[in-house]
Amino acid sequence: MSDLALKDLYQGFRDPETIKALLKQIADKAPGLKEPLKIMEVCGGHTHSIMKYGIHQALPDNIEFIHGPGCPVCVMPKERIDQAIALAQQPDVILTTLGDMIRVPGSKSSLAQARAQGADVRPLYDPMDAVKLAQENPDKTVIYFAIGFETTTPMTAVLVQMADQLGLTNLLLHVNHVLVPPAVHAVMADGQAKVNAFIGPSHVSVITGAKVYQPIVDAYQTPVVVSGFEPVDVLEAVLMLVEQKLADKAELEIQYTRAVTIDGNTGAQAMVDKYLAVRPEFRWRGLGNIPNSALGLSPDYPHLNAEIKFKDILPSEELDDHKACMCGDILKGLAKPTDCKVFGRGCTPQTPMGSCMVSSEGACHAHFKYGEVIL
Ligand code: SF4
Ligand code: SF4
Repeated sequence: MSDLALKDLYQGFRDPETIKALLKQIADKAPGLKEPLKIMEVCGGHTHSIMKYGIHQALPDNIEFIHGPGCPVCVMPKERIDQAIALAQQPDVILTTLGDMIRVPGSKSSLAQARAQGADVRPLYDPMDAVKLAQENPDKTVIYFAIGFETTTPMTAVLVQMADQLGLTNLLLHVNHVLVPPAVHAVMADGQAKVNAFIGPSHVSVITGAKVYQPIVDAYQTPVVVSGFEPVDVLEAVLMLVEQKLADKAELEIQYTRAVTIDGNTGAQAMVDKYLAVRPEFRWRGLGNIPNSALGLSPDYPHLNAEIKFKDILPSEELDDHKACMCGDILKGLAKPTDCKVFGRGCTPQTPMGSCMVSSEGACHAHFKYGEVIL
């Protein structure tokens, strides 16, 4: 696809005139709100967009964004990162994972530091590259450390299918996929975050379908709008939430109709159900243990499971963040990055002290990059 054609796909969703018109409609209607609208954007992609385009500053005072659990890199607890490092340090192991995971600090170091000390750690753009690596390195064990929300689960499922069907004996998986709806339930059940509306992530919903948010709407009488990531998408979603509140409604709506349906991609869902299984419990950084909130490898494939094969060397001690780090409160929507005393001082994208500063979708990283740095 040429650059021009690519630009054509998104430029309408960044059109200044459309943005101004949406902001005006929101500003005209906001005075009618009975209480401040506190919208949690669950997804780091939205946080990034809100900060990049200054959407938070352009809205009326009674409409506020609260950054939620956000990014699958940000919510991975230290002990899981320590497990990835322990696997990478085993002889004849090639540890593979997706991008930002390499820089996230564990209890003592990161995968990037382990690599600098000699471990064979390789970032992948496509999980399928792990198959090629395993075939090219028959004398090594290739381990894929799988992370991501529902968006990336079908790719991991296909990797399991390929490893199984090809009969690869030197490709293993350590699966840490986290699920969005249980985290949203945890935020609402906690009751501390004064959230009264949600913008749901579109990438996730392309796979799961918007239907996964209906129980949240029903349980908490809170509107959810599944939205795209461009500024026009986000503002349209805000307008839809304002209109629901003005009409005293709490409904599930889809703004991102160009890709999201109620039922989602049922073929991908079937693959995920076959090759991955819901873990009874998973510890999220900042949110603690949440029942049924993550996927591991299906028990039908123990021969591919790095957690079983290497169980004797995997650290399991549960470790909290550095005591100065407020990622936990930020992920729960109780604090903003600028509330953290080390934001922009000890903690920067080059020297992250907490996971929210590592990923470009992390709330602290987005605030640092697009403004509000206190010097
Ligand atoms: S992976 Fe997709 S859904 Fe998840 S935080 Fe990133 S952009 Fe949002
Ligand atoms: S600025 Fe750094 S230390 Fe502070 S909350 Fe964010 S990631 Fe944690």
